[in-house]
Amino acid sequence: MFSSQLISKLQRAESVTVFTGAGISAESGVPTFRGTDGIWKKFRPEELANFDAFIRNPELVWEWYKHRKQIVASIQPNAGHTALAEMERRFPQFAIITQNIDNLHRRAGSKNIYELHGNVERNYCIGCGKNFTDAEIMSMDKVPRCTSCGDLVRPDVVWFGEQLPVEQWEKSVSAAERAEVFFSIGTSAVVYPAASLPLTAKKAGAYIIEINIERTELSPWADEVLLGRSGDILPNILKLCRSNRLSAHN
Ligand SMILES: [Zn+2]
Repeated sequence: MFSSQLISKLQRAESVTVFTGAGISAESGVPTFRGTDGIWKKFRPEELANFDAFIRNPELVWEWYKHRKQIVASIQPNAGHTALAEMERRFPQFAIITQNIDNLHRRAGSKNIYELHGNVERNYCIGCGKNFTDAEIMSMDKVPRCTSCGDLVRPDVVWFGEQLPVEQWEKSVSAAERAEVFFSIGTSAVVYPAASLPLTAKKAGAYIIEINIERTELSPWADEVLLGRSGDILPNILKLCRSNRLSAHN
């Protein structure tokens, strides 16, 4: 199933970086929130996931995020997430850079994760930055307010028109640059600047493996394109790591 080059690259690699997008979450049943369920059908995500909409109508935006939080809480990491969590223990350096906000990598057991678009299970005050858990949010009014300064509390996700979190971005670039093997998984690789990460890794000499259900703009640049579901392919990659690498790094 895998090329001998892929096998030998994985055998020797000290540093592996994984870049994930919506595809791996979709396999767990996370909807794209485009043209789907109920009353949210009449809104495009761009109309709700932005700061101006939040200031104009925090109740509406919060209602949408509470709906999303409930969906995320009700789904589970899949075999792809689980395989990545075990792969982390088999390489001296291993990082996951994700564009997903659903926290599924952490719930699967991954530790070294850079979240480029935030995490829907976290919330913070726009006035003083204080953090609030989902349990605290759910016990507050429809529009949650900071218990310290009284300002609005928002979900800790990157909205349309907002910058990526600087520290997470810089760590992601470093992880791309130091990777000997770089996986791009379930991402269409078109949303910049995040989409530049596989090319950053490639320029720095990494072996690029793309896993996706269809070819993307990255495919011509990848050293290996594996078409299919990450939940089917990653467990086989993990098997390869188990049989080829002498010891797990625990
Ligand atoms: Zn505050």
